[in-house]
Amino acid sequence: MELTELTITQTHEGLIKKEFSALELCQTYLARIKKEDKKISAFLTLCEDLAISQAKEIDEMISTGREIPILAGIPSAIKDNILVEGMKCTAGSKILENYFAPYDATVVKKLKSQGVVILGKTNLDEFAMGSSTENSAFFPTKNPCDLKRVAGGTSGGSAAAVSANFCLFALGSDTGGSIRQPASFCGVIGLKPTYGAVSRYGLIAFASSLDQIGSMTKTVEDCEIVFDLISGKDEFDSTSVNSNSKPQIPNSKQTPNSKFQISNLRIGVPKEYFVKGMDEEVEKVIKGAIKKYEEMGAKIEEISLPHTEYALPCYYIIASSEASANLARYDGIKYGLSKVKSQKSKVKSLMDAYLYSRGEGFGPEVRRRIMLGTYALSSGYYEAYYLRAQKVRTLIREDFNKAFKKVDAIFTPVSPSPAFKIGEKIDDPLKMYLSDIFTVSVNLAGLPALSLPCGFVSIVNSQKHAPYRPPFLEKGGAGAGPKVNLPVGLQIIGKPFEENKIFELAKIWKH
Ligand code: GLN
Repeated sequence: MELTELTITQTHEGLIKKEFSALELCQTYLARIKKEDKKISAFLTLCEDLAISQAKEIDEMISTGREIPILAGIPSAIKDNILVEGMKCTAGSKILENYFAPYDATVVKKLKSQGVVILGKTNLDEFAMGSSTENSAFFPTKNPCDLKRVAGGTSGGSAAAVSANFCLFALGSDTGGSIRQPASFCGVIGLKPTYGAVSRYGLIAFASSLDQIGSMTKTVEDCEIVFDLISGKDEFDSTSVNSNSKPQIPNSKQTPNSKFQISNLRIGVPKEYFVKGMDEEVEKVIKGAIKKYEEMGAKIEEISLPHTEYALPCYYIIASSEASANLARYDGIKYGLSKVKSQKSKVKSLMDAYLYSRGEGFGPEVRRRIMLGTYALSSGYYEAYYLRAQKVRTLIREDFNKAFKKVDAIFTPVSPSPAFKIGEKIDDPLKMYLSDIFTVSVNLAGLPALSLPCGFVSIVNSQKHAPYRPPFLEKGGAGAGPKVNLPVGLQIIGKPFEENKIFELAKIWKH
């Protein structure tokens, strides 16, 4: 087996048994990225020097016989809206094109404290606004399963990097689906933790009442390892809570017979999540997965989340309003791109400085959101839009509260379609927004949810050549020739701080 195909636990074992060194591991990954990422464009920046020095440190520890943590020497990638000290952090935007992070985000600090090797920063839609990574100011990321298709977004670079075996795990952020949807499109695991479970200190803010950082991996076990490390209270993020308060499932790790456990679980399937317009093949795969869980012993119940139809407009009002406030800090003076000096003749006032810098620095989608948000917050419209959206948000949260009185977890599709073609939705914002229909409610309600690859849909191959196929997906059945198999993700939604139950449920899934 190739080094880049191992899981975190397997890699850790290889390191401690000295089957390979951390440096060898790091160089193998870097070489793979340099060769293959030309086709995929998952990375915006490679942190080669940092990665190599981190790997050498781990080898030193191993050579002195010291015990190393499970994540020591493990190659990772970080979404480019999370700060890594001394590295560029663009948020996928021209306005931050030459911005270097002055400090580490708390999650990065935690990774570094365990000796995680950071290979690079991954591509995203500008300021994490989008659903395909096509809104990146630099280039779109391609889906490793079919290079003509999007990797999803906004953590498309992170999802593609994991899927293409460029790293063992990646961090992403999720405001309305940005971890789960690209995970689903690229066939990897993606967890959006409970609001408050992971510190956002050092995450470039998009919509602060919705943003969460989470892990993207090849296996559920790996996802849990990373989540356990990055979660917990942080004094620099007042919305974070202590991980000790996470309710544990009694004996979950020791239970030898997981079937026994699952037979105690009731799973809700909301009828509103199987809507007209949804891809029929995706629906079949999701229903097939739910059936399999039923066969494994879970009690499946139809439930109703009656306010689902308002989730999308509610999300886009709230997210844009918060974005318009958060993005006010990019004024051409404090951060990033500034036209004050270069356009000296034209910039005659403070207002000119704002207009020229922001006008040039922000891309069309970000400008659209700022305008939408500013409008929704403006006097005279605030009650009709922002305040109303907040009330609807409460109704959506109450729908889940009620449902969770009856069921332990909720199963839905992650996305109404598999990965779509590059360019297919980019000129139609509404079409793009619609692809978030199954993910945004979870953020509005602050719940944890995981995307579990549960099958494939077969699409006629749009390319002349057989698509680039990540080695681990080949085993999942992605066929060569005239058909391409695109991955489909099942969304497992849990009660607040019950990530553990989600992991247990996902672990018993057998392909
Ligand atoms: N697609 C959603 C949006 O554009 C969600 C993005 C995200 O989760 N960062 O807002």
